[in-house]
Amino acid sequence: MERFWWHSKSSYGSGIHWKSWDKLCLHKHKGGLGFRNLRNVNLSMLGKHGWRLLTNSSSLVVRVFQARYYPQGTFLDAELGSNPSYAWRSVFEAQEIVKLGARWRVGSGISILVLNQPWLSSKDNPYVVSSHEALCDCSVFNLLQIDNMSWDEELLEDLFVQRDVELIRSIPLPSTLNMDTWYWAYEAYGGCSIKSAYPALQVRNERWNLQDNSGFWKKFCICSLCNGELETIYHIMVWCPFTKACMDRGLGFSFSDGKDEFSCWFECFCNTHLGDSVDKIAVILWDVWGARNDFLWNKKIASVERVVSAAITYLELWKFAQIKMELSRHLLVSSRPVTSSGLNPAAVKSSGDLKPFMAEAMSLKEALSWVKNTWGDGASFEGFVPMRW
Ligand SMILES: [Zn+2]
Repeated sequence: MERFWWHSKSSYGSGIHWKSWDKLCLHKHKGGLGFRNLRNVNLSMLGKHGWRLLTNSSSLVVRVFQARYYPQGTFLDAELGSNPSYAWRSVFEAQEIVKLGARWRVGSGISILVLNQPWLSSKDNPYVVSSHEALCDCSVFNLLQIDNMSWDEELLEDLFVQRDVELIRSIPLPSTLNMDTWYWAYEAYGGCSIKSAYPALQVRNERWNLQDNSGFWKKFCICSLCNGELETIYHIMVWCPFTKACMDRGLGFSFSDGKDEFSCWFECFCNTHLGDSVDKIAVILWDVWGARNDFLWNKKIASVERVVSAAITYLELWKFAQIKMELSRHLLVSSRPVTSSGLNPAAVKSSGDLKPFMAEAMSLKEALSWVKNTWGDGASFEGFVPMRW
């Protein structure tokens, strides 16, 4: 590849290599040309295999490797061992990459040891730095209050330094005990990919800066409604000042539960508020999302007043339509529009309690009452043909 880059038609042999390949592989922001480092790309691909060894414990290959090389722990604790196979030696090379992004997601905490396991939500250092002797062999499960699935605040304050306490508090807990699972910190969907493993490796090797790729993507990641914070679902639906102002105007209050998970927030809202407020919050949030898209793609700026009034109007129309549907379901009557030739009442088949002929009779009765009320006794009625069923 180097020869391809430096060789030209006029040069003899492989041409003059003005810069080492290593330097050309540096990011453009670091003075290189951003070429892929093939060894690191290969390691990233091996990283995916390593990830499978960590997460796919039911696979036969994983069980064979586990029995042979790390019977007691996980792939992250494994050692090369004596007389390793070629395949194991290759995958083992990727252990460092897997360690870079692998994090425990707390379900019950039973499988997670407090010390020496990556379970904090920090990209720099996901390990607990506190060293209280009571934490040796202690599992995360021991830090939970199972009755209401929350952290035991007293224990946290007693055993951990402030940095750890804050990181532990920020970990979302499930409402009931679950399995502890692994997730990959560099992908939103939680699985390991070559696309995310390679940059992580480059940053670790100081070939890329952390912010190398953020300049371009950053403008897509900042909330377009407040232009202040990163746009997460929780931010745009709950925390954004624009959304809070819409809630304030539409409901008379804004609501936040201190957690970072939108689904938990919404569940909490539904459990603590009346149905009317739940209807309103649903349409307001829907319109906030519409306002965000309108701004992002059509450059249309929406005001809080417009978003709220559009949402409330939509809700009223929707409720009105529901009532109409309910009524028509019971009456089974539908009238065709009046034309210049006269009135055309008719019954239609649909699900309901009434028999078709009763519905037909009722529709005719309704039509006649309407004729009488509209034109009085002067109206004439020519007759009708009975419908066949
Ligand atoms: Zn915002």
